[in-house]
Amino acid sequence: MNKNTDPLQSAEKSIGNSGTVSVAIDGPSGVGKTSIARSIAEKRHYLYIDTGAMFRALAVYYVKKGIPAEDEEQVILHLPEISLDMKHKEGTQHMIVNGTDVTDELRTEMISHAASVISQYGAVRTRLLEMQRMIAETENVVMDGRDIGTVVLPKATLKAFLTARPHVRAERRYRQLEALGKLDGATLESIEKDIEERDYRDSHREIAPLKPADDAVIIDTSDLTIGEVEAKILGALEERI
Ligand code: C5P
Repeated sequence: MNKNTDPLQSAEKSIGNSGTVSVAIDGPSGVGKTSIARSIAEKRHYLYIDTGAMFRALAVYYVKKGIPAEDEEQVILHLPEISLDMKHKEGTQHMIVNGTDVTDELRTEMISHAASVISQYGAVRTRLLEMQRMIAETENVVMDGRDIGTVVLPKATLKAFLTARPHVRAERRYRQLEALGKLDGATLESIEKDIEERDYRDSHREIAPLKPADDAVIIDTSDLTIGEVEAKILGALEERI
């Protein structure tokens, strides 16, 4: 509890309408959101929600069905036939599409691309927005994404916006894919180019573009360790609850 704050005001500040605590962590890809959000959730015993995985799970459906992500009409037409479910098992968020666990299929460059394209469509975002808000109403959460602080949880207890230089982000992504054995011929250069394209799409789309909320704590993670970023976020959270 922040000693300088009136307890009533502090309670008002720290909780949304539902009384749960929520930490929104936004930023572009490869910035370290997932590792940091997961670790903070573990430390606070909150539920970690990776919203990117939700877009990716939908993308898996379209890619498997041979529907090009660029074909907005077809993507929207087929949206109602997708049943999307999320389960947490031993600290891992599993994505279930029409009864099939697709978690292992989410992190390829092809799915990254398709997820980024379909995330521009209003109908896709609305569908996931409802799920995301419902979870945060019933659970204390750390949620990571692009629009959590601005659109999904505008009353989040704490909003953090992480940034890092594009080259640093590409290197992190490269190492991540390499460790997963999912490079699929991608090079550091191709990943950097892809990251730049996705950043551009995410920040320039009409609906829920990637940008920091006015009251977000902005952290450049380029030269910080995960532990250092985490300490900053946990410190800021402590002040608000
Ligand atoms: O975070 P991740 O790279 O897994 O997200 C995959 C894609 O989903 C992103 O490139 C972005 O376009 C989209 N996304 C989004 N809004 C979110 C989370 C992800 O538009 N809240």
